[in-house]
Amino acid sequence: MSVYGFDEYVAMDARIGHLLREAESADEGGHRFCRFEAWYGEGSQGLGFRGQVNELVGYMREGIGPVPLGTSNAYDVVYERIYGAPPDCKGRCACNSLALTA
Ligand SMILES: [Zn+2]
Repeated sequence: MSVYGFDEYVAMDARIGHLLREAESADEGGHRFCRFEAWYGEGSQGLGFRGQVNELVGYMREGIGPVPLGTSNAYDVVYERIYGAPPDCKGRCACNSLALTA
């Protein structure tokens, strides 16, 4: 069984590429941005990037589609890439506050 890379998974489902671009531009230019809130999602803003990864790859993938997208390798590869994509935290996000008081 061959092991695919990120670009090959994007070729199987373009939504993965869209999610990467969304993650890379997640900081919309406000005073404050938190990459962990963006990853885990926050309240009524709905799914964070993590939840969207869950919908696209791995065992929790919704619907049918190319079989490789449902594998744990797809999950690992896409998870790692999307997790690393958002810009650094800025302003008084929870992580920065914790760091300041530690
Ligand atoms: Zn943060």
